[in-house]
Amino acid sequence: MMTDSGALGRPTWVEVNLDCIASNVNLAKTIVGDRTRIMAVVKADAYGHGAVQTAQTALRHGASYLSVALVEEGVALREAGIRAPILVMGTSAAGLACDIVKHDLTATVVSYQSAVALSDAAIKHGRQVKVHVKVDTGMSRLGQPPEEALKLTRQIVNLPGVKVEGLYTHFPCADTDMQMTCRQLKEFRGLVLRARTEGVDVALCHAANSAALIRMPGARLDMVRLGIAMYGLSPLGTVPLGPEWKPALSFHTRVSFVKKVREGTCVGYGSRYITETDALIATLPVGYADGYSRSLSNKGEVLIQGRRYPVAGNICMDQLMIVGRSDDAIEVGDEAILIGSQNGDAIHAEDLARMAGTIAYETVCTIGKRVPRLYNGDAAHRCLNKVHDLPTYCV
Ligand SMILES: *Cc1c(COP(=O)(O)O)cnc(C)c1O
Repeated sequence: MMTDSGALGRPTWVEVNLDCIASNVNLAKTIVGDRTRIMAVVKADAYGHGAVQTAQTALRHGASYLSVALVEEGVALREAGIRAPILVMGTSAAGLACDIVKHDLTATVVSYQSAVALSDAAIKHGRQVKVHVKVDTGMSRLGQPPEEALKLTRQIVNLPGVKVEGLYTHFPCADTDMQMTCRQLKEFRGLVLRARTEGVDVALCHAANSAALIRMPGARLDMVRLGIAMYGLSPLGTVPLGPEWKPALSFHTRVSFVKKVREGTCVGYGSRYITETDALIATLPVGYADGYSRSLSNKGEVLIQGRRYPVAGNICMDQLMIVGRSDDAIEVGDEAILIGSQNGDAIHAEDLARMAGTIAYETVCTIGKRVPRLYNGDAAHRCLNKVHDLPTYCV
């Protein structure tokens, strides 16, 4: 819970509805059934939603594994008291092998040397370290091709202190290319079968991200890696998910200044917007340092009093301006929705992503650290005074 209301001196905040995350995990669980585990992907601070809160919610609602990109992300979850298994999906320097072992993280292995470093660390600490071997079936990012991955697996099953718990691969085009994804899946399943036939006891074989979990029942295997859909956002480019998936995040601010201007008034750095009529310019205390991308300059839209207003001119680091009609009744303190809904209209993260020329993943995970996250209608934001320079603290 956000209790430091002092952090809300500037009325720009994100609300995360953990009930939506719970509902999305439940839905995923219903889709995959009891024999397939759910790994909640909480890398990058849970795509900007807050890793600890998201992980705890996901674990309470059907997820039984977590994954992160970095060792330090895994350590932070352990330090928050989370005991569920955590897979580190990235590779890490050999020097971090001790941290992996000490914090009981599961490592991704892509080479014999990295497995040896983990084995050494495990022996040193008198522990066993779980590893998942990464197989490259077409992403060309991490992992060995199937044949080499099988060889690597055979080599490391005999390393002391190392338990090969999993084999996994990743789909680059599960949202766009079913043929390629099917070919990858077939190759991966073939590899799993061979490993198991040889007696290599790998408990968890996994391949599906959100897109494959939704579109390819055959890819669900022992576990699915549920990322973007857990947040209620679409893995399918600009195609939104059905209404059964609930977006958990909304992004808010309040108008900090309003003025009426004449036709021909220049707005912002570089004067990239010039009013064509007499107009109203409202300033919002949010900018690209908060993750409201500068590529939304002259493109973004916000909701105020249930109406859409366009961003005028270049977005600044900490502020932006929107333009309205000179008779609009916008006032200092009015709430502006950057992502979310207001009076029946909505700006989805996917919409904002499209305007910025990116994908919803980037739109949410780049929302800045200095934007406080409020959880489940946390009362604090309601205490933000309408006049932002007179904050009321009432937690
Ligand atoms: C981020 C990530 C995922 C989650 O993908 P979504 O599209 O967000 O579901 C799954 N697997 C790997 C290896 C990843 O890096």
